[in-house]
This record gives sequence, structure tokens and C-alpha cells, in this order.
Amino acid sequence: MSENENLLNDHSSDEKDLFKKASIIQKIKGFITKDTTVANESTKVFVVIRVLLLSVLFYFLTILCLDKALHLLDGKGVRLSVLFVAVFIWIFYLTYRLRAKYAAWVFSLGLILFIFENLRWFGWWVGVQHFLIVILMLVFFVGYDGFPFKMGLAAFVCFIRLLFYYKFHNAEAMYPIPSQMGDLLQIINTVAIFWCLSVICYVFSKSTREMEGKLVKYNEQLQRQALTDNLTGLANRRRALDYVDQILSEGQYESFSLCMCDIDFFKKVNDTWGHECGDQVLKAIAKTFKERMPRGSLPCRWGGEEFLLLFPGLNGDEANALLMTIRDKIKKMVVEYEGHEVSVTMTFGLTEFDFQKTIEDAITEADGKLYYGKEHGRDQIVF
Ligand code: GH3
Ligand code: MG
Ligand code: MG
Repeated sequence: MSENENLLNDHSSDEKDLFKKASIIQKIKGFITKDTTVANESTKVFVVIRVLLLSVLFYFLTILCLDKALHLLDGKGVRLSVLFVAVFIWIFYLTYRLRAKYAAWVFSLGLILFIFENLRWFGWWVGVQHFLIVILMLVFFVGYDGFPFKMGLAAFVCFIRLLFYYKFHNAEAMYPIPSQMGDLLQIINTVAIFWCLSVICYVFSKSTREMEGKLVKYNEQLQRQALTDNLTGLANRRRALDYVDQILSEGQYESFSLCMCDIDFFKKVNDTWGHECGDQVLKAIAKTFKERMPRGSLPCRWGGEEFLLLFPGLNGDEANALLMTIRDKIKKMVVEYEGHEVSVTMTFGLTEFDFQKTIEDAITEADGKLYYGKEHGRDQIVF
């Protein structure tokens, strides 16, 4: 076999290994995230409970290994662990069959039982009672029960904690363990409890953050939609008036011109080529406005085939010069529609706002000029 073939074979066996690893990870992921047979249940809650269950099983495995390696529990760790491994595997199976909150309850009961037995066997000082905080967290994050119900459950967990305290903190353990092993168990329990709490906090804070992010985006989208004309993508009447308010309140411009304009004989376009063609023309005109109008100015669809153009910072003459190029561009514009070439012209009524009268007056004035242009031949700018 040549060196190259060897290299190829090595490479493909590496790829196979990677593929195998990826598919094993996929399988474990699928195993943890698999839905319950009950409809409309949040997978997130099951993921948390299953990760907690796997963590607890890992915890037992650690205890078993320690017991085997150090013989400090004298084999008792094995009995307790095997019993609860069976219980928690059964609960794991139940997570594929139950509703989320019932799965959480069964898990909590299993945990309470485990805490009780652990306290009975090894005493108060190995710190297993702190697992109750994991249950408290689950109570608040799982299910959509009301505040009184959750507070009731929290009080119940608190009650169990106190009960365990009075029963076990001075009691002699059934199997007293050497202090060295006690310290080790304390460390293992603390790490396990912090791990479980972190899992719950991570999953639920992540989904809260994601939800907030989605809401903010959705809100922005709604706001944008509320201020935008659907067909042309231009600002709508509300956005235009908001913008005028903004310009006037900022007071940074010395001059401000505005123009009302309207497509000439647009009804004919619709009647001749159809409404769809009319829409294409409206879009093409909007595009021209967007391309031709300078930064800071705002074209808006005032309604139907009428547009309001705002030119903050431009006096009447400057706006007039700009409008001439826009009018020209629109006049030369050809919209291809089903093999036909459609062209239109527009009439413009331009006025310079003097910052004395109201904006409504200025718009009426521009409208009057537009009307005058319509009456006197169309396809022109009236200033
Ligand atoms: P003028 O030169 O006097 O403005 O004549 P005109 O035909 O443009 O004016 P008129 O007011 O008679 O007709 C306006 C037409 O604009 C009627 C209406 O169907 C059409 N129109 C309004 N909004 C839309 C729209 O969103 N899409 C389409 N395709 N047509 C629209
Ligand atoms: Mg018109
Ligand atoms: Mg009109």
C-alpha cells in the first residue's frame, strides 16, 4: 500500500471516529430532549429534570467508586446507592410518560426520600439536607401554578427541612462514618447541590433572556410596521407627522420645505393595465424618492397615490431644484409590466415652512399648490 493510500485510510478512520462520536452525542441529546407522550408539555422542564436525574446518578456512581476505592463507607454506600439508582432510573423512565409538573413532583419526592435515608444512615453533618434547595427551585420554575400554590409548596419544603433538623441534627447516625469520609461527602454533596442549582438557573434564565430578546425584536418589528407603508416601504402618514414634530422640537434647521405630490391620471394606469400594474408603479416611484432624496429628508406615502416629501434644512429654491431632478427621473422612468412599458408623470406642490404657522397649514398650502398644478396642466412643480 502506498504512503498516500495509508494517509487516506488514516484520514477516513479518523472521520469515522468523529462521525461515531457525533452520532453518540446526538443520541444522548435525543435521549435527554425526547418529548413526553403527554401533549403540549414544555420540553425545557423535562430536560432540566433529566439532567438533574443524570447528575444524581453520576453522584451515586462517585459515591460507589469512593466506597470501592477507600472502603470508608464499609460497603454501606453500595446498598444505599443501588437502592436509589433504581428509584431514580424509574423516575427517569417516568419523565417520558408524565406531565412536567408531575415528573418534577415525583423527582422531588424521590429526592426527599433520598435525603431522609441519607440523613438516617450517615447523619446530619454530611450536608445532604441542602438538596432541599434544589426542590425549592424546581417548585418555582416548573409549572404555571399561581403564587399561593407555589408559596404553599415552598412552606412545605421549609417544614421538611425543619423536621429533618429536629430529627437528625443530634441523632446518632445508623452507620457513623469516619470524619475524613464525612468531609469528603460534605464536599461531594456541596458540589452536587451547586451543580443542580446551576443547571436549573442556567436553563430557566437562558429561556427568559431568549424570550425577552424575542419580545424586544417583535416589539421593534411591530413599531416599524406601524410606521411604514406596506406596499412601498416608505414612511406612512403617522411616521411623517412624528418626524415633523421631531424636526420642530429639535429646532436645528433654519429652513424647512415640504411638498405634496400626486401621480397624474393614475386611475387610467389601473384601468388600462390593472391594479397590480398600478402597485408596481407606486413601488417604482417610492424607490426613486428613496434614491434621490438626500439624507435627513423623508418621503412618505400620504395615502393612495399621494406623497408628502419633507426637506428639513432645504429652503424652497433648494427643494425646487431637487424636485426638478426627481420629476425628470420619474417622467423618464419605464415600468415593465407583462411586456408593456408604463410611464407616468407627477404634479408637485411645494411650500417653504416659515416656522410661524402650523404644520397643518403648511400641508394645506402645499396641497393647494398641487391642486393648482393639476388644474393647470399637471406634470409640473408649483412653488
Ligand atoms: P389626477 O391626475 O387628477 O390625480 O388623476 P388620478 O386618476 O390620478 O386621480 P384619481 O383620484 O381619480 O384616482 C386615483 C387612483 O389611485 C384611484 C385609485 O384606485 C388609485 N389608487 C389608490 N391607491 C392605490 C394603490 O395602492 N394601488 C393601486 N394600484 N391604485 C391605487
Ligand atoms: Mg392622481
Ligand atoms: Mg390623488
